[in-house]
Amino acid sequence: MIQGSESVDARKRVEHEKLNHILEFCDATGCRRTVLLNYFEENHVHPCGNCDNCIDPPETWDATEESRMALSCVYRTGQRFGVSHVVDVLMGKTSDRMRSLGHDRLSTWGIGKQLSQTEWHSLFRQLVLRGILEVGYDQFGALRLVQASRPLLRGECRLTARKEQKTDEKRRLKYNELEFNGNERLLWDQLRDERTRIAREQGIPPYMIFHDSTLQQMVAHKPQSRAEMAVLSGVGERKLVRYAKHFIRVVQAFANGTGQNGSLK
Ligand SMILES: [Zn+2]
Repeated sequence: MIQGSESVDARKRVEHEKLNHILEFCDATGCRRTVLLNYFEENHVHPCGNCDNCIDPPETWDATEESRMALSCVYRTGQRFGVSHVVDVLMGKTSDRMRSLGHDRLSTWGIGKQLSQTEWHSLFRQLVLRGILEVGYDQFGALRLVQASRPLLRGECRLTARKEQKTDEKRRLKYNELEFNGNERLLWDQLRDERTRIAREQGIPPYMIFHDSTLQQMVAHKPQSRAEMAVLSGVGERKLVRYAKHFIRVVQAFANGTGQNGSLK
């Protein structure tokens, strides 16, 4: 969007820089507060102990070798290709295009099969965020080496990357963290199924109907009327009118022991 806008180049550069700061904040592995305060040039701040990264530090891994592979591959392909193609080369994909470019004969072709496509994309994003690689937005996103790529290529420094959590791992984690009494887990599943059903029907993402946290409250309080539903947080007037009846029905069925599973009581 920035690149496609009408702004002058100087303005676009500023916008890119701002965007990078935001992405850097998102991708941070250390204390978020430190990142924020550094932005305002307040350095040497102690970790706050209260942000998500302090409370639950993200997993990291030594990505030195893989980063070097990534940089070499950008170099070998002539710094003219975007991340998707470079990742395809690393993973040793074959296609007519790959063959006609002669990239299946490069020394970096197929050297990166140890990582998945998602993991490679994550690593490239982190390299860009840290200023070790540059994206030529004016060149269809072609990756380019920069001064900061050198120490890593020469093996003069190491790189620790944030481990990408797979979406369903995250979901499972959250699911396992929940505490249920007795067969409440069944109710939880049924409420989620109902949400999925409505979401599909209406062509909207499930969280727009009710957040997980609201469904958790439904599990805990088992609202069987609109009045009981209305006091839960995340249930506004509009959602009460549109969705409450569907979820009340699920709760009632569960309470009556006639849920889908039929063995609730
Ligand atoms: Zn913190």
